[in-house]
Amino acid sequence: MSRELSIVGAGLAGALMACLLAQRGWKIDLYERRPDPRGGPIIGGRSINLALSERGWHALRMAGVDQIVSEQAIAMRGRAVHSLEGNVDLQPYGMSDSHVIHSVHRANLNRLLVTAAGEAGVRLHFEHSLRAVDWDASTLTMDSPTGPIESPFNALIGADGAGSPLRTSMVRKYGLVEQISWEDHGYKELSIRPQRDAQTGADGFKLDPHALHIWPRGQFMLIALPNADRSFTVTLFLPLKGEQSFAQLKDPTAVRAFFAAEFPSAVPLLEDLDQEFADNAVGPLATLRLAPWHHAGKALLIGDAAHAVVPFHGQGMNCAFEDCAELADLLCDSCDLDQAFADFYARRKINADAIASMAVENYYEMRDHVARADYQWAKKIEHALAERFPQRFLSRYAQVSFTRLPYSEAQARGAIQAEIISQLAVANSLSGIDWGTARTLVERRLQPLPEHAQLVAAPSDTSNPDIS
Ligand SMILES: Cc1cc2nc3c(=O)[nH]c(=O)nc-3n(C[C@H](O)[C@H](O)[C@H](O)COP(=O)(O)OP(=O)(O)OC[C@H]3O[C@@H](n4cnc5c(N)ncnc54)[C@H](O)[C@@H]3O)c2cc1C
Repeated sequence: MSRELSIVGAGLAGALMACLLAQRGWKIDLYERRPDPRGGPIIGGRSINLALSERGWHALRMAGVDQIVSEQAIAMRGRAVHSLEGNVDLQPYGMSDSHVIHSVHRANLNRLLVTAAGEAGVRLHFEHSLRAVDWDASTLTMDSPTGPIESPFNALIGADGAGSPLRTSMVRKYGLVEQISWEDHGYKELSIRPQRDAQTGADGFKLDPHALHIWPRGQFMLIALPNADRSFTVTLFLPLKGEQSFAQLKDPTAVRAFFAAEFPSAVPLLEDLDQEFADNAVGPLATLRLAPWHHAGKALLIGDAAHAVVPFHGQGMNCAFEDCAELADLLCDSCDLDQAFADFYARRKINADAIASMAVENYYEMRDHVARADYQWAKKIEHALAERFPQRFLSRYAQVSFTRLPYSEAQARGAIQAEIISQLAVANSLSGIDWGTARTLVERRLQPLPEHAQLVAAPSDTSNPDIS
């Protein structure tokens, strides 16, 4: 079989997938409905930023673009939790300063990946929007600036996002089973402008740039991630309906009163609150569970098209990039697409399901638990266990964000660790814990971590050295 593939969607996963396969000798056609992002203005205005962690970095390293991405990335060492009273508590993510996640600008990252794909020899087709697939004739119908066109394909990879038209076509033709769980919460993006120095005119950050800021308020929360231009992208996650909800925030007076009551320390930072709240739409949040993700050797879905998750673990893109890395490995030696697609699905489905569940759980952790004393006590025990038993015990967050241990294993180990912590949490202080019992529990219940799950230092030493 020829090493030719067509990929629909040149977003984060599609562009990286195309690049990795072209670098391995595949002939790739990449179709994207939006205009070419290289050199032009960023479509969609002020784009959001994303948290990039080890799984994503690994795939970027495979494509040889990690260094250039790291030059634009800002390291975040932990959560800065803002209380209602205005206190800020920095809760580190990892065991050392090198255990960080990075804030990256979505549109810049996308542009960079499309550029790398072009340089690897991918045939790029922008302003080509998939309209229909003729599965029997193996042709795509695309809307293009010159009208509808038909393109033949050998096999398809769908990287066309959560609303994937290719998935819709596969559901209709091949009976893929799709389950979408909508959250009754939504999100709205706002921003914090840079701090302009009146004398020098230089821009600085209004908050610590090396943290992911959270204003947790039980049923809802505000978060802020830094951008390289010294601004922050701020996101409000809130119920869609109810007493404190988007439905109640109908005019600037209601919005200002809500923010003054719930996020008083953020209000002076949100200079464009009225305008941005009025202009920016409320985004929906949902988890997609699909089975299977492929049909024979003809088509395979990856990224959000196969397994969109809620954004609370910062893993949607990282998981999509891990898809790309694993599929590139599988297709490296074999041209048997049928087998490769089936193997990919068998490996990835269980892990996509695991991160989907952990992402939902993380919403409760971020919006509520982080501010509670019992959570903070459990975190102290977790930290102490990880320090004492580094070969076996690693926080679930660290397993997900700083290693490439399969998500399903991180989920299973995390459940055992949570039980151990809750057994030890009856003590009142770390010195009151029976560490002999702790050792027995850890050694009896947790196998040593595999070598590939040993913590990898993130490239904090190379990222954005001018941002301090
Ligand atoms: C608020 C929010 C915050 C998030 N934060 C994080 C984070 O911190 N970390 C993280 O890892 N993930 C995060 N995510 C998730 C992340 O955005 C997605 O998982 C990621 O974008 C998935 O990449 P993708 O390439 O599969 O899909 P997309 O990035 O959506 O790309 C799909 C592409 O397909 C194209 N397309 C669609 N239809 C067609 C068509 N008919 N024809 C041709 N092309 C088409 C689109 O134009 C687009 O370019 C967040 C998501 C949200 C909503």
